[in-house]
Amino acid sequence: MGWLLIDSPGIGNGPCKKKCKHLDCADARAEAARSCRICGYPIGYDTKFYWERNEESPKNTIVHFVCMWTEEELRRAWGRVPTHSETVKAMARGK
Ligand SMILES: [Zn+2]
Ligand SMILES: [Zn+2]
Repeated sequence: MGWLLIDSPGIGNGPCKKKCKHLDCADARAEAARSCRICGYPIGYDTKFYWERNEESPKNTIVHFVCMWTEEELRRAWGRVPTHSETVKAMARGK
């Protein structure tokens, strides 16, 4: 599945810079405000992210592309899924 990106407010497909009543803008703002499953920070604008569709959990989760990438690299290197704190530490170390 491909990554997504929300343009910054006022640019491209991004929401309006000022408060507005457009449904699309409200959706974009809500999506940008959601927290990444891995690092816990908001998804934000102009940043690649994924929606994860989880079979175990009915809730779809959202992750930054870089966070997901780091988790995937660790998983390959270690042969198991890293914990949340291991992934966050690896990101703080390296990238
Ligand atoms: Zn708008
Ligand atoms: Zn993240």
